[in-house]
Amino acid sequence: MIYVANWKMNGDKEFVHSILSEIKDNILPFLSDGSTLVLCPPSIYLSEVNDICKNISIEIGAQDCSAHEKGAFTGEVSAQMISGTGTDWVILGHSERRQYHAENNVILIDKLQAAHNAGLKVIFCVGETHQQYNEGMTRDTLQGQLAILDDTSLVNLNYIIAYEPVWAIGSGLVPKLEEIDIIHQFIKTQRSKKTNLSKETKVLYGGSVNPDNAKEIKSLKSVDGVLVGGASLSSNKFKQICI
Ligand code: PEP
Repeated sequence: MIYVANWKMNGDKEFVHSILSEIKDNILPFLSDGSTLVLCPPSIYLSEVNDICKNISIEIGAQDCSAHEKGAFTGEVSAQMISGTGTDWVILGHSERRQYHAENNVILIDKLQAAHNAGLKVIFCVGETHQQYNEGMTRDTLQGQLAILDDTSLVNLNYIIAYEPVWAIGSGLVPKLEEIDIIHQFIKTQRSKKTNLSKETKVLYGGSVNPDNAKEIKSLKSVDGVLVGGASLSSNKFKQICI
C-alpha cells in the first residue's frame, strides 16, 4: 500500500517537527511490509523534511512544480530545485491546481516533462466534478485527463495515478466502494492499452479518506494506496488510516 499525505498549505515549522516525530515513532514502525509512506509538505519545508527523514524509510513529495526549467517566473519553484532538496515525488494535476490556477492539459504536459527531466516520480491526479459524475461523464473526463500521458515525450515517465473525484475532496462525500473499484479498474485498463507495459499502473484513491472508511477502501484489490488531505494533518487519524 502507498500512503500519501498531502498537507496542502497548512502547518508551520513547529507542526512539521511535531508531526514528523509522531509519524516516525507511531506510524512507521507499524506499517505493513512493502508499504510506502510519502509526505508532501509545503515546498518551503521540503529541505527541512528531507533532512529530518534522511535515514528513515519515508519518501518526500512536493505538491506542485513549475512548468518551466528556469528563468523569470517569480514565485515559481522548478522541478530541478525540488529534486535538489532530496525530494522523490511531485503531485501534479491536483484538482485544486486545476481549479484555482487554471491548470489544463497544455500546462500539465510541460509540468510532467519538467518533473521527468528532473528525475522526480509523479503522482498524477485525475477526477471528475460532481456535475460530470451526475451526467455520467466520469470515464470521458478521466480519459481526457489521462490522454496527456500518451505524449511521446513521456514514455519513460515514472508515475502513479491518484483517482480523486473533485466532489469527494474535503467534502466528507465518498463514492460507493463498487464505484471506486470500477473506476480504478477502468484507469488501469486504459493505461495498459496505451503502454503495453507488463506492469499494472498503480492507482491510489483520494477524497475524504478517514479512519472510518479507510479499511474498506484499502480492501479493494484495485486500490494500491490512498492520498489523504485533511486527515493527514492529524497523526492519530493518519495512523488509523495507515495501520
Ligand atoms: C486531496 O486534497 O488530495 C484530498 C484527498 O483531500 P481530503 O483527504 O481532505 O479530501
